[in-house]
Amino acid sequence: MRIGITGGIGSGKTTVCKLFETLGIPVYYADAAARKLMVTDQHLIHQIKNTFGEEAYTPAGELNRPYLAKIVFNNSEKLKFLNSLVHPAVEKDARAWHSRQRHVPYTLKEAALIFESGSYRQLDRVIYVYAPLETRIKRVMERDKVQREDVLARVRNQWPEEDKIALSDHVIINDNTLSVIKQVHKLHQRLCSVTKNNV
Ligand code: ATP
Repeated sequence: MRIGITGGIGSGKTTVCKLFETLGIPVYYADAAARKLMVTDQHLIHQIKNTFGEEAYTPAGELNRPYLAKIVFNNSEKLKFLNSLVHPAVEKDARAWHSRQRHVPYTLKEAALIFESGSYRQLDRVIYVYAPLETRIKRVMERDKVQREDVLARVRNQWPEEDKIALSDHVIINDNTLSVIKQVHKLHQRLCSVTKNNV
């Protein structure tokens, strides 16, 4: 099975994925993969240059982030278009990665925008990591040394939480009241038994 894992910014997706990794489950980190593919996938590079101009890359072949950011963060249609180029490349890479994994009951694909990008349709199940907004804001401010408003701006780019929870198959609550380790362990056992019974 290919299982997606998502959640709001700062909900603890990566933290939860690290716990699954300790149980031997391979995790594909889609956002990191996207950053890599944007400088290694020739077809994608070609598409980005065609759309945004040669200046989208430095002469050394690195992504010209300030240039691209200036274009897409002032224009949501252009941001959508850039995502529509990157997501298929990530999906193709994630599938190839999944097919290389051997002797595991399932794999995880961690992505912030699993629903927004539509990639959940390609996955067998989705896990949602939940934490209250205030907790998430505090965690991200502390982790990234940013202001509250910066976190809120990122939250506004995401779908409403209740819509995403409704579309998810499992929820892990990471709000400092319940043991995340216990929840991950229980869910892992459940997913292993589903895989065994092939339901
Ligand atoms: P992003 O959306 O930015 O990729 P994320 O959902 O992957 O974030 P993490 O990076 O896992 O979230 O967690 C955000 C921050 O909160 C990190 O600094 C992490 O160490 C911390 N954190 C996560 N879960 C907990 C917890 N249960 N208790 C305390 N700190 C936590």
